[in-house]
Amino acid sequence: MADYDFDLFVIGAGSGGVRASRVAAAYGAKVAVAEEHRIGGTCVIRGCVPKKMLVYGSHFAEDLHDAARYGWTLGETSFDWKVLRDNVNADVDRIEGLYTNTLDNNKVEIFKERATITGANEVTLASGRKVTAKFILIATGAWPVVPKVPGAEFGITSNEVFYIDDLPKRVVIAGAGYIANEFAGIFHALGSKVTVVNRSDQILRGYDEQIRDRLFQISTQKGIEFVFNAAFEKVEKQADDSLSIHLEGHDPIGADLLLYAIGRSPKIEGLGLDHAAVDIDEKGAIIVDEDNRTNVPSIYAVGDVTNRVQLTPVAIREGQAFADSVFGNKPHRVDYANIPSAVFSNPPMAGVGLTEKQAREQFGAPKIFTSDFRPMRNVLAGKAERSLYKLVVHPDTDVVLGIHMISPDAPEILQAAAIAVKAGLTKAQFDDTVALHPSMAEELVLMK
Ligand code: FAD
Repeated sequence: MADYDFDLFVIGAGSGGVRASRVAAAYGAKVAVAEEHRIGGTCVIRGCVPKKMLVYGSHFAEDLHDAARYGWTLGETSFDWKVLRDNVNADVDRIEGLYTNTLDNNKVEIFKERATITGANEVTLASGRKVTAKFILIATGAWPVVPKVPGAEFGITSNEVFYIDDLPKRVVIAGAGYIANEFAGIFHALGSKVTVVNRSDQILRGYDEQIRDRLFQISTQKGIEFVFNAAFEKVEKQADDSLSIHLEGHDPIGADLLLYAIGRSPKIEGLGLDHAAVDIDEKGAIIVDEDNRTNVPSIYAVGDVTNRVQLTPVAIREGQAFADSVFGNKPHRVDYANIPSAVFSNPPMAGVGLTEKQAREQFGAPKIFTSDFRPMRNVLAGKAERSLYKLVVHPDTDVVLGIHMISPDAPEILQAAAIAVKAGLTKAQFDDTVALHPSMAEELVLMK
């Protein structure tokens, strides 16, 4: 150990890197972490956290409207984007401070600069300083993809969207994955005209079809426009600074903001992987084994850069498993089965386990139970918007293989229900549970 400057050098202080750094240091390892942007990484700085705050902020538009049906008389209301933006970013600063304190308290040395791999046990910092380590952990995350078309530079990505000066009157969102649908909901609620543009003919590929169809239907009814089978041709800036977005086979669309949400690629550019001959796959993801180890024995990788499941809790678990296994003498592996996830659209969706389609492929004829209902809150508010819950059940064993839902608070409800799916409980055990009335979640134990 004494031959190296550090026992562990972590590249990237995001979800995976921070967890691995602090846990390894708590086991007594001498740890350093390099971060070229801000401590906390994508989730804290320009991902999950500020996004969720914008979701909360935008929801007041409907809540204030509904309030009248609940007897409230409100004075004139107005919305100030800059207030929301600045309050959100102030809280992001606070959380970044907490993450920095955690690293400091665990005596992790922080280099606030870019790091490049220059050998199997060597990292070179942007300052030119070379540092050696017994182990290197790559936790550099992913980076938003931008289409390669003329004028693409006039659009922005999730990296910039949290800092825009003004709320755009017209937004075009490229992509139809979870980030696209979340920002469609945010901008629409805040008063922008939103058009979602996608290359394929559907939204949210991979999610349960019935649930994503419901989101599509509700979004359309609210006034969000969707343009499918539309590949980007070019983007032009007009004299008045607005954009003209040209799509193959469609009329150009005018917009004040173009947001790309077409995917995130592993962030490996300029990382120096070839200096240590670290293997990557065809998508540029670092190839690791079940213990997060690359083909180079001293180099590990966790999180989005490995392109397994691009979610914060997964990156955190991978970072924890790495540190426990390599420094804590407590080897264990991440279990990727039944990872719950959500789309914080309006209304939100959430799911865990097999979709109906996946269950059909694996088990032929799963039992499907659905509850299609109008939440009490919407009834009194005079809103037609309906929720949909679905249980996917094994045809022979009665085990609940998946739960998928779209409803207010779906992510909050699903986190608890995911425990039951992870535990392998049966539909009969769901039915044995007495309903908690009146709630939306009670539908989970009342499906016939
Ligand atoms: P990151 O958190 O991205 O951290 C990587 C860090 O490495 C970055 O800080 C980067 O600056 C740094 N870095 C990169 N290269 C270098 C280098 N050479 N030298 C020094 N530093 C470097 N996930 C959820 O679970 N729930 C959500 O609701 C959710 N919402 C999201 C919303 C948006 C808009 C986005 C973009 C992502 C969202 N995610 C969400 C995904 C989540 O943010 C990622 O899965 C998670 O951050 C991955 O963690 P990580 O440690 O792999 O990488």
